[in-house]
Amino acid sequence: MKYIDEFQDPALARRLLDEIHATVTRPWALMEVCGGQTHTIIRHGIDQLLPDQVELIHGPGCPVCVTPLEVIDKALEIASRPGVIFCSFGDMLRVPGTGRDLFRVRSEGGDVRVVYSPLDALTIARQNPDREVVFFGIGFETTAPPNAMTVHQAKKLGIRNFSLLVSHVRVPPAIEAIMLSPSCRVQGFLAAGHVCSVMGVAEYPELAARHRVPIVVTGFEPLDILEGVRRTVRQLERGEHTVENAYARAVRPEGNPAALAMLADVFEVTDRAWRGIGVIPGSGWRLADRYREFDAEHRFQVTGITTQEPAECRSGEVLQGLLKPNECAAFGTVCTPRTPLGATMVSSEGACAAYYLYRRLDLQAAPAAPTTPLEASPVG
Ligand code: SF4
Repeated sequence: MKYIDEFQDPALARRLLDEIHATVTRPWALMEVCGGQTHTIIRHGIDQLLPDQVELIHGPGCPVCVTPLEVIDKALEIASRPGVIFCSFGDMLRVPGTGRDLFRVRSEGGDVRVVYSPLDALTIARQNPDREVVFFGIGFETTAPPNAMTVHQAKKLGIRNFSLLVSHVRVPPAIEAIMLSPSCRVQGFLAAGHVCSVMGVAEYPELAARHRVPIVVTGFEPLDILEGVRRTVRQLERGEHTVENAYARAVRPEGNPAALAMLADVFEVTDRAWRGIGVIPGSGWRLADRYREFDAEHRFQVTGITTQEPAECRSGEVLQGLLKPNECAAFGTVCTPRTPLGATMVSSEGACAAYYLYRRLDLQAAPAAPTTPLEASPVG
């Protein structure tokens, strides 16, 4: 399959690995920002093929995982209201809120529907003018443009019974927060290629220079990851800290101008809370005032939300790269994809789900050394 098979070529992977092994002279800790990259790394065992000196740390780039519990609880509250049709991508339905999830709301009579595009939700709104239709708009710079376009269309077409529950987040402020954290061990970043295909790379040179950290825009296939690691390690060994684009087949330096224009029209930057991490200044988007009538939080005025995270869930530490999923006592026992305590076990981009899907049998087979192999050649 074009653009997939050739980026999984074992002989080329071996060559890249040989180069990395030949380059490394001392320990380096790299963070892959995106949960999709984490899954590629764990699924293909890339971390186990790298030199022991190269540690890959999981980043917070899983959109489902970082959506704050308060927003999940607001979604549950709105979806429970009579007359509401609540639309979402499927991966949000099993994300635990305080005490229940959207599947539970649906089983209790709520009209919760899985859609494949925010425009599907707009169609539902047109077909049901006597109902309130809400779309759950979460995610990074990748999902924000279609959501912005949908709100733009709703306004243009005069569809007033549509609204967006917004929880969009942005990558560069998260990198800034990670670098400013006293516990930060990250020395180089594999930036999320799909985010840069929308946003371009303009925000990164200043970050790289100020924190003296290499940032390599990286794709999602195994060779993409290896090339991202190779370039990052090469910079670190040379004492460099620049921005490189290792995903040029998808990323132009200027990004996607049409998507950027839509984002600028519909959203404005705001502070945003990240689940398990806290508020990061300027790390999110909200609807601009001229689109406020389409803001579900404004329309439904949900108040009195009291959130409560499960005490045993350590997903906040997992999201900050401070803990490997298998180091959480609940991993694979009380917390599984069927009985998730945290969003990182639910999401198809969550680090806990990646470990459970691809590595739990290895971990069970080697109970005496549950963390050492992962730390010796850790995961991104
Ligand atoms: S394994 Fe489960 S309980 Fe532990 S951090 Fe991950 S999601 Fe939370």
